Amino acid sequence: MEQIQNEQEKSPNQNLLLCPMCHQKVLQEYYFCPNCGKELRSKPLPTDALSQGATYALSIIIPLTGFIFISKWPGAKYFKSSDPKARRTGAIAWIILLASTIFTIWFAYYLADKAIQSSLSSLNADLGGF
Ligand SMILES: [Zn+2]
Repeated sequence: MEQIQNEQEKSPNQNLLLCPMCHQKVLQEYYFCPNCGKELRSKPLPTDALSQGATYALSIIIPLTGFIFISKWPGAKYFKSSDPKARRTGAIAWIILLASTIFTIWFAYYLADKAIQSSLSSLNADLGGF
């Protein structure tokens, strides 16, 4: 018993898609299949100032927290969006994330260097006592 793979999810008609779940023809604009309720595509990403600001803020914070919340970062999702405005937000978020990552690494090195310097100088001071 061989399962038939539905190779063509898109029907020849450009405005119609086949639901991957129930193979019902659905309009391309649909977010959910009206027949079985399967999510056909993710909802458009919000591109208002607040959402953009929150995305950029996360881009700054995430490297500082050691990427603990990276799964919450919407930047990659924005970057892959088909909406050019959302994609631009994603590109900026990536740049901020990279800049913040570089800064975080630099700052960590700076702190480590300072710690080494101070321990070296205290070591020197100790040795100087002899
Ligand atoms: Zn369906």
